[in-house]
Amino acid sequence: MDIFANHAHVFPREVRPEGSIETLLRLMDKCQIKRAVAFAPFIDQVKDLGIDPNEWLAQELEKHDNICGFGTIDLDKPDLAKQAETIANLGFKGVKLHPAYQQFNILADELKDFYAAAEELGLLLCFHLGVHWHRIKDYHPLLCDELAHFYPNLKFTMEHVGGLSFFLDALAVLTNNLEGGNVYAGITSVLNKSFNQLWYLGPERMELLVSLIGSKQMIFGLDFPYNDAYRVQEAIDVIMGLDISAEDKANILGRNLARLLDVAD
Ligand SMILES: [Zn+2]
Repeated sequence: MDIFANHAHVFPREVRPEGSIETLLRLMDKCQIKRAVAFAPFIDQVKDLGIDPNEWLAQELEKHDNICGFGTIDLDKPDLAKQAETIANLGFKGVKLHPAYQQFNILADELKDFYAAAEELGLLLCFHLGVHWHRIKDYHPLLCDELAHFYPNLKFTMEHVGGLSFFLDALAVLTNNLEGGNVYAGITSVLNKSFNQLWYLGPERMELLVSLIGSKQMIFGLDFPYNDAYRVQEAIDVIMGLDISAEDKANILGRNLARLLDVAD
């Protein structure tokens, strides 16, 4: 099976050697992952280098056609819709958003034009959801239901499916928006029992998701470099061991992402 995985954070080697593109490529090799989506660093993670994270990633990826780039936005700048355009112009097909880390409310007014632009440009947004040491009212998964309502053609993933504590809320949003087919469950860092316990959902909840929302709404992610090859392999093995069809497994492990990003399977 050709695995196409979402959700790898990559960094310039000077910032985080274990999170470099080369390290990601080695992990992909070890875990037999054919393609991956890599997120540009957040602006404050590279401020000491004085580089533009999106431009940096775009340049790096010229050498690697098995990695698909996603951008990040700088919320301290007012031109968020323009940033969405710039990201699309760099050839990126999505944007990683971390409302807790970036400290913004998912439904904040200043993001309205950004969402409208992302919807128009067909960018896939990946939201970190799940307790992350910031006021929960800013990134409660239920806010995503409003997002789906106001931007019916906006495609986005609910990463970590809300984590353990908000799994049922995320499930509510996913099932409530099945008809549009634009809201996806990000199967990321949720299958390592002895690690990431706050996000651990386990195989039974995966099978429940397949029966309630369908495998077409589920997208496997790495959470590199926070997960190493061992943990990534552990998650792949759990998915391969689920009591679901081979087609369901293929959907989760890459087919959905390939279809969404229009990358040959
Ligand atoms: Zn992440």
